[in-house]
Amino acid sequence: MSENLTELTDKIISCEACHLKEGRTQVVPGIYGPKSSLCFIGEAPGYYEDKEGVPFVGRSGKLLDKMLEGINLVKQRDLSILNIIKCRPTTEEGNNRTPNEKELRFCGERWLHKQLNFLSPKMIVTLGGVALKFFSPNTSVTKTAGKMINTDSNYQIFVMYHPAYILRNYNLMEEYNSQFESIKQVLNSKLVELSLSEKEQQKTPKQKGEQKSLTDFL
Ligand code: SF4
Repeated sequence: MSENLTELTDKIISCEACHLKEGRTQVVPGIYGPKSSLCFIGEAPGYYEDKEGVPFVGRSGKLLDKMLEGINLVKQRDLSILNIIKCRPTTEEGNNRTPNEKELRFCGERWLHKQLNFLSPKMIVTLGGVALKFFSPNTSVTKTAGKMINTDSNYQIFVMYHPAYILRNYNLMEEYNSQFESIKQVLNSKLVELSLSEKEQQKTPKQKGEQKSLTDFL
């Protein structure tokens, strides 16, 4: 019998395949939204994510929520949020640290690709340079932020800064706002590309007055 997403997630939660298990409180598998919608991907859990078992909480998570709300998107309802690495990388002193290339490849190739196979996202948004490097090792986040790029992995990636980077560089907030506006435009252009009548026939009709989000059209 083939594995489903719940079974895969159970395996991720009990994974002890690398040394990062030693610094974690718990594994952070991610939040799943609808299949074939958007998928935001960051690098790894930090202190608060490790405590709560959920990606993008704390200050950067709050900023991300606010930016998403600005384009009428809500985590889980409209999109998935995952990290490439599922366990918090820590320094010897117990602080957050950036994962190295080997750690990134090891966990990402073990679990993230399988999650993406199930979710089959129409569009992936990478948050920050580390997440981008996993999909496109030679691409610079500063040169491509706010743009769609093609990668060897067959995924189309929309490149964005990590919200933590924006909190440290608040002068980039205007640019960050326009990156989120670009996501909205890409979603709208996908809406135009689709045959809405065909798509609507596959959906359960919405109740009168119920609001549609952009990802209803993906
Ligand atoms: S970081 Fe990934 S590979 Fe390593 S123990 Fe955690 S889930 Fe397993």
